[in-house]
Amino acid sequence: IQALRMPGDKEMTMKEKERSVSEAQKKKMDIEETRRSLPIYHYKESLVDAVQNHQVLIIEGETGSGKTTQIPQYLHEAGFTKDGKKIGCTQPRRVAAMSVSARVAVEMGVKLGNEVGYSIRFEDCTSERTIIKYMTDGTLHREFLSEPDLQGYSVMIIDEAHERTLHTDILFGLVKDIARFRPDLKLLISSATLDAEKFSTFFDNAPIFRIPGRRFPVDIYYTKAPEADYIDAATVSILQIHATQPLGDILVFLTGQEEIETCQEILQERVKRLGSKLKELLILPVYSNLPSEMQAKIFEPTPPGARKVVLATNIAETSLTIDNIIYVIDPGFCKQNNFNSRTGMESLIVVPISKASANQRAGRAGRVAAGKCFRLYTAWAFKHELEDNTVPEIQRINLGNAVLMLKALGINDLVHFDFLDPPPHETLVLALEQLYALGALNHHGELTKLGRRMAEFPVDPMMAKMILASEKYKCSDEIVTICAMLSVNGAIFYRPKDKIIHADTARKNFNCPGGDHLVLHNVYKQWADTEFSTQWCYENFIQYRSMKRARDVREQLVGLMQRVEIDIVSTDGDTVPIRKAITAGYFYHIARLSKGGQYKTVKHNQTVMVHPNSMLFEDLPRWVLYHELVFTTKEFMRQVIEIESKWLLEVAPHYYKARELEDSTNKKMPKLLGKAKAELGVVN
Ligand code: ADP
Ligand code: MG
Repeated sequence: IQALRMPGDKEMTMKEKERSVSEAQKKKMDIEETRRSLPIYHYKESLVDAVQNHQVLIIEGETGSGKTTQIPQYLHEAGFTKDGKKIGCTQPRRVAAMSVSARVAVEMGVKLGNEVGYSIRFEDCTSERTIIKYMTDGTLHREFLSEPDLQGYSVMIIDEAHERTLHTDILFGLVKDIARFRPDLKLLISSATLDAEKFSTFFDNAPIFRIPGRRFPVDIYYTKAPEADYIDAATVSILQIHATQPLGDILVFLTGQEEIETCQEILQERVKRLGSKLKELLILPVYSNLPSEMQAKIFEPTPPGARKVVLATNIAETSLTIDNIIYVIDPGFCKQNNFNSRTGMESLIVVPISKASANQRAGRAGRVAAGKCFRLYTAWAFKHELEDNTVPEIQRINLGNAVLMLKALGINDLVHFDFLDPPPHETLVLALEQLYALGALNHHGELTKLGRRMAEFPVDPMMAKMILASEKYKCSDEIVTICAMLSVNGAIFYRPKDKIIHADTARKNFNCPGGDHLVLHNVYKQWADTEFSTQWCYENFIQYRSMKRARDVREQLVGLMQRVEIDIVSTDGDTVPIRKAITAGYFYHIARLSKGGQYKTVKHNQTVMVHPNSMLFEDLPRWVLYHELVFTTKEFMRQVIEIESKWLLEVAPHYYKARELEDSTNKKMPKLLGKAKAELGVVN
């Protein structure tokens, strides 16, 4: 009997060894060559000089010129990591942090997580040995809590500064402050577009280092009339390009995972129908929840004779550069988190992009050769309907999280914080009020003990409060599972087009009294009972990857709970305490049933609907709490539970008054009349 051999440990013949050595060498040479071909390569020495001579440097360079992957390596080679300090580089997006660090690890010939690593929320892939660390801007923001002077770093690069995410904007203020009392810390602000002057002014007129990019001309085409269905229009355009245009890869911008998957399905279907009439078309998706081995695929060279089409979110606009894109299809939309400071309502909506974004997108077609960009909107719309620039996040989203973090850093006077662009006053006030209502701040605006414990959790304040409330309601076990499941913002339920009925039946089997949060808990619990079986997920139409991630997130949350000394205890089946704990965090998200299956939010009387995916879609209880709102055709509540109105007085007595929660319809009438009168200008 022959001994079994694993594929990895087979002995190589001499010949094989030689071949693999030369292959490795060839690969290394290829990498070297690619590195040398990047526009930034010619500026290596002058860039290092500039960093040596200035504490703060603004770097501006075309997307794909090599800023993100090369600068940390240049500085490492120039000795900036000699004294054991790290080079940090922030990215607004998780995918970029992961993908870029993987690339740099390959270029340096090290294992990811050793000398080169990344750290994103709920996932730290670094070690003692790490000297080049990529991380999300949110992660660095959080690092300030444990290391307020960033002592472990010799260089900090705030990359993709033009994206102007909330965290990046706040980091500007924080790092500027630190640079003053840490003269040895080098600060680089790197940006793809024309904001360099603005950054320079903010950082006390720091010098600007420009890396001239090369850009080939891109022809821009518009549609003659607006497109009713841009996914359909995109697939048609892809196939047209594929059938009529010379080889070269296609990049399509869609708004999110769901759209990408829909587009992928339609495309596969149509390609199959066309059969062998066409050349090979490789369809590759990229979005933030895509597993990293699939993300890596977009960077693999297209086989000769074939064409690659990459279906991407905004991530491919500036964060990731995919080589050899010749054609860009731009439907003109992206998904945005929006916040209405008047109603305090936050929701995820699809909005038209800005002109600046549209131009960035088009630019992706001209990196290696002359390209073409197909805009699925009219020239008129481009000119008249698109804003010039995207509004920075800080001016349009809920600041609760940011304010809690700043307070935890001991920054009390937020009005005078050094913002590049200050947030609207009312948004700041609303965030303070919200934190006060949650019990995180006292009436002087100072952090309470509860607030300090809340700040330990890398989740938004409402979720943090729900976690802390689970201590009181003795359901921390259930709540931590629910948090983990809610934090996996990929889909849990799998719904393949050809098995919709089976999938929906499987899903209904998880329903349990109380609502969607409890369904999520139920799914996790059953899965855990099978000892995390893959087969079980498969049989029940549950996405194994999402579950695995939920398990990781759960483990980390449990660790953090131990840090703030919350024991993990279970209610063993009673859902009331669980729902009360959720309400203690999300009492802002309450709606009451009104006419025609519609709901009205309690405080602002906004119309909202239960999302059709919710198990309460057919039930419609009187009082509900929602996890989030998504706007598609209407404002939909996603993840909904049934609550009792009197709980609100118990968990948020300083926010709700009994009068607001009165249930009788009779009593509502005079108020409505009063309002109607007021609207008509009638004075009582
Ligand atoms: P910039 O930050 O200036 O936009 P990058 O440093 O991100 O530029 O990109 C430089 C080059 O590195 C590009 O040609 C890009 O294709 C390549 N690259 C980046 N990430 C990867 C990856 N994960 N795999 C393969 N190539 C990559
Ligand atoms: Mg970059």
